[in-house]
Formats: sequence, C-alpha cells, structure tokens
Amino acid sequence: MFRPPSEHDAYILQATIGCSWNKCTYCAMYIDKVFRTRPTEEILEDIAMAQARLGSGVEKVFVADGDALVMSMEQWEPLLKACRAAFPRLRRVSCYAMASNILAKTDDELAALSELGLKMLYVGPESGDDVTLDRIAKGGTAADHALAAQRAKAAGMALSVIFLLGAGGVERSSQHAVESARLATAMDPEFLSALTLTVLDGTRMGVAQRKGRFELPDVNTLLGELRTFLATAELTNAVFRTNHASNYLPIGGRLPQDRDAMLAALDAALAGEIRLRPEWARGL
Ligand code: SF4
Repeated sequence: MFRPPSEHDAYILQATIGCSWNKCTYCAMYIDKVFRTRPTEEILEDIAMAQARLGSGVEKVFVADGDALVMSMEQWEPLLKACRAAFPRLRRVSCYAMASNILAKTDDELAALSELGLKMLYVGPESGDDVTLDRIAKGGTAADHALAAQRAKAAGMALSVIFLLGAGGVERSSQHAVESARLATAMDPEFLSALTLTVLDGTRMGVAQRKGRFELPDVNTLLGELRTFLATAELTNAVFRTNHASNYLPIGGRLPQDRDAMLAALDAALAGEIRLRPEWARGL
C-alpha cells in the first residue's frame, strides 16, 4: 500500500488495485499486480465498516492505488456520495492521478467530482523534459501535464505535484532541471515536492543502468538539479518540500516567500556545511 506522506492521517480506501498504466521505467510499486477496480458493492462495504469503526474521526479519505482517478464516473460517484454520508467531518477526498486520467474526463465530470468532495490530486510528472518523460515512459508530455493541471484547478481541485531528481540521468540532468522548473511554473500547484530517484532492481530502469544505458547523477549534481529547480520555478503560492526519505537534504517552505532561505540551505549543503542524509538512512 502506497500513499503520499501527507495522507498519513487519512482513511485509505482501496478502490482500485495496482496502476492501470504500470509502465513507468523506474517504478516497482505495482509491478506484480494486475490492475483492477474493486466492485462498487465491496467499496461501499468498506466505507460502511470504516464508518462503524472510525465514524466522525475520519476527516480525510485517500483513494488507492496508483492512478485511482482512472475509475469511471459510475464508480466515483457512489464512492464519493457514500464517503460524504458516512463521515460527517470529512474535509477532502484525494487520490493519485496521471495527466491522462485527468484529460480523459470532461470539464463537467471533473467539476462533478470536485463538487462531490474529490478535492486534491497528487500528480507526478517527475520531469518537465519531454525527452526524459518519453524515456521514463511517463505516458504524457509536459504540455499534457500543464493542460491537466489547468483543467483540474478550473474544476476546483488542489494539486500536489511531484518531481524526481535524477530522472533525466547524467545525460539530461540540466534539461531535466530547467524544464521541470518550467513545468512546475505552468502547473502552479498548491503543493510541490521533489523526490530523489532510486534505481531499483526488477525495473526497466534497473536493467538500463546495468547495461550502461542509464547513469544516475552523483549527489552534488542532484542537489544542483534541485537548486536550478528551486531558483527558477515561479509559483504563485505553494508549499514546497523535499522531506521525503529519498532525499539527501530535507528542506521546506513556501514559494516564493521562502525561496532565498531554501537556496541558502542548499548552497550550504553544496559547500559541505550541512550534513546530508546518509545513504543508509534514505528510503523510497
Ligand atoms: S503512474 Fe505511478 S504507479 Fe503507475 S507505473 Fe507510473 S509511477 Fe508507478
């Protein structure tokens, strides 16, 4: 079971199993799972059980798994209505979404989902560099992600957008950093974060690395990507975090207000004045 760190206090509703895309070259999360949507009766049964056990304690619901927005309106509507009826203190429902999931819904459908309580989407373009996006098989271009963000926001949904340091490898490192900042600017989310790529055995990227077709940048280059990203992304008002366990340097603040303070911390780290998270303490 995977969920964003900020959903640690949410009730996790397993409406789908796996990821309908399941092709990103670096991802092992659902690699062994055949994607399926659970029958609506089962989902409603789960919600009823959660109501009985947790009742008014539920303020947030996270709908799993990897790209749950792919569910049809016929699946989403009863789920959201049941959550609203079961949890009187419910503040929001959220899920992971690919750009293609958003673009496959009409504006009216997105607005209806938002109206029913689906208020937050976690979207991971990972890069704004189209060459990198193609190589990691993200299933959408930078333009797709920008349009998806625009449409989700117009429907009243908040966005949490994730980029992946190192995704372009050594070869595309600088383009990856520059274009990711450009895409973050275009998507202009409320929440923005950067994770650091770990190449896993059993993934296509792992095979590419073994065969010498992909090289992960060194730590200073990864921090340099973060510096370029942070220095050039223009956000209206976003919470920015690198507190995920995969990162070498946890920093956080609001953009644009805290940009200089975060850049100063990064520069201190690059100068060796701040201790980085050791390899053994990093996680996925
Ligand atoms: S969309 Fe997400 S869960 Fe699906 S394969 Fe890509 S990274 Fe993994």
